Amino acid sequence: MNKNGQGSSAEPESAGQTKRVSVLGATGTIGQHTCDLLALHPNRFQTVALTANRNAKKLASLAIALKAEYAALADESMAEELRLLLKGTGIECGTGKAALVEAGARAADLIMASIVGSAGLAPTLAALHQGTTVALANKECLVSAGAFFMKERERCGTTLIPVDSEHSAVFQSLDSLECEHVERIVLTASGGPFRTWTPEQIAAARPEDALKHPNWTMGQKITIDSATMMNKGLELIEAFHLFNVEADQLSAVIHPQSIIHALVYYSDGSVIAQASLPDMRTPIAYSLAWPARLKADFKRLDLAAAGHLTFDEPDPARFPALRIAKESLRAGGAAPTVLNAANEVAVEAFLNRSTSFPGIAALVEHTLSKAESDLAGVVPDSLEAVMYLDTRAREIAKTVLLEQTGACAGSYAYSVPI
Ligand code: NAD
Ligand code: MG
Repeated sequence: MNKNGQGSSAEPESAGQTKRVSVLGATGTIGQHTCDLLALHPNRFQTVALTANRNAKKLASLAIALKAEYAALADESMAEELRLLLKGTGIECGTGKAALVEAGARAADLIMASIVGSAGLAPTLAALHQGTTVALANKECLVSAGAFFMKERERCGTTLIPVDSEHSAVFQSLDSLECEHVERIVLTASGGPFRTWTPEQIAAARPEDALKHPNWTMGQKITIDSATMMNKGLELIEAFHLFNVEADQLSAVIHPQSIIHALVYYSDGSVIAQASLPDMRTPIAYSLAWPARLKADFKRLDLAAAGHLTFDEPDPARFPALRIAKESLRAGGAAPTVLNAANEVAVEAFLNRSTSFPGIAALVEHTLSKAESDLAGVVPDSLEAVMYLDTRAREIAKTVLLEQTGACAGSYAYSVPI
């Protein structure tokens, strides 16, 4: 994919033209930033649909503030509360999985896909099927269902704008005419909170340690993924599908300052990189306004104040999740789907104190090896096949988790019984 070689729907914005925008996962970190930008530019954006998991109050207040047409909540038990909160506003509402898909399918010019995890896949596919523009923050969609997702994008002629900061950086650094001359793509990684920790310290890391990201403020799941560096592994898989390159052309480098987000190497020795302060509002604003730019007063990058920018190789011994994700990318087939599902189970288990920090990567790796025989021959080439693999991989991961915690019961200083 390159910025000009995809769906035909994107029209340059002209004065007076408003974009109809939906936000899937409106109450999350990315969703909230997106809603803030929509509110700041009422002449450029009109809100269509907003979704959330179970926070009816926050969803209703966003829907009222943005004069949305439709609000959808995943949790059906909150249906009455949402209905009462929106009574008399004229805003339609719904609950359950079908309501989320309905939110993705409502006619819009741009849909921000920012639900976390594979729960975002069905609503994001519904958005993709509109054939307009999807701003994609949910990386799990591409990890879990990359080949199928990109085939559907092509079939529907949808424009896909990456929101993940590294992928937005690549997108901005790609020149459509030169795309065939791209030699390699490098994504930067902050290294997370444990970049300088010893293996012994990492082994004893608690959720509260892992949730302290040095540079970025993000949802819990991606913050833990950053600490394990699984996030960078997921991002390499994401880049593989978005930019149509070989796995060998993709790599990650540690850059603790998070100022350079990605670099594109061209065949003549030229390297184009994108730089900005670590603030997700910049790639979100870019995705909302593309191919134009939004005027935003975010703090500007001051290179002299930033001082040194440093780069380092990731350490596979302390961060095995990155290696495991790269192996899944190379293996292809069902492996990335299983990797993603097992990682979602593992992160939740770590947050619930049911496994240790190193237990996350171990759980993912064991699930992958068990799934190799159990799920052999299942290809994630439809939504049903992806969801089948996702469900089965979660079951396998939960069994592995029980074995792990049974074997290690009582050995975690902070552990609580499952
Ligand atoms: P978050 O946890 O802050 O928000 C997640 C959103 O998804 C919320 O609106 C929540 O209500 C909704 N949600 C959660 N579970 C759901 C379910 N089962 N069904 C329906 N809705 C559900 O997460 P976030 O940090 O905003 O991240 C969102 C996505 O964007 C993730 O895929 C993440 O990897 C990606 N991303 C985030 C950042 C960041 O800086 N936060 C950066 C790059 C990419
Ligand atoms: Mg990222």
